[in-house]
Amino acid sequence: MTTNAGAMDLSFLGSDDDLWLDEAACAGLPIESFFVQAGHIIDEEVLNVCRACPVRLDCLKHAYNPDLNITGGYFGGMSPGQRREMSYADAVAFCATDVVVSPAAEEPALDAEPVIYS
Ligand code: SF4
Repeated sequence: MTTNAGAMDLSFLGSDDDLWLDEAACAGLPIESFFVQAGHIIDEEVLNVCRACPVRLDCLKHAYNPDLNITGGYFGGMSPGQRREMSYADAVAFCATDVVVSPAAEEPALDAEPVIYS
């Protein structure tokens, strides 16, 4: 696997059914973004790329392939630690609820009119 800076080369992933790579939302992004050092967390914007990726579950399935022994990196938007703690079925269920986080959606609507109940 290469860890050089620059566009993400996904070819290192291709040892099983890798047709899904053609639709990977991370193609062109720096690979380092998905391989953070131990004790660090991934950038939320990068995680949102995975959350919105059309092949997220394929990527996750790839990471859980025991023949590949993938122990590092974020796959399917899940950290190595999360993948160690969750079964594949639980990880798929997690992905169904782990959606894109919009910073604007978390901000309080300060300009909203107060609701007065009588
Ligand atoms: S889920 Fe994330 S790491 Fe996997 S292919 Fe999609 S964008 Fe890339």
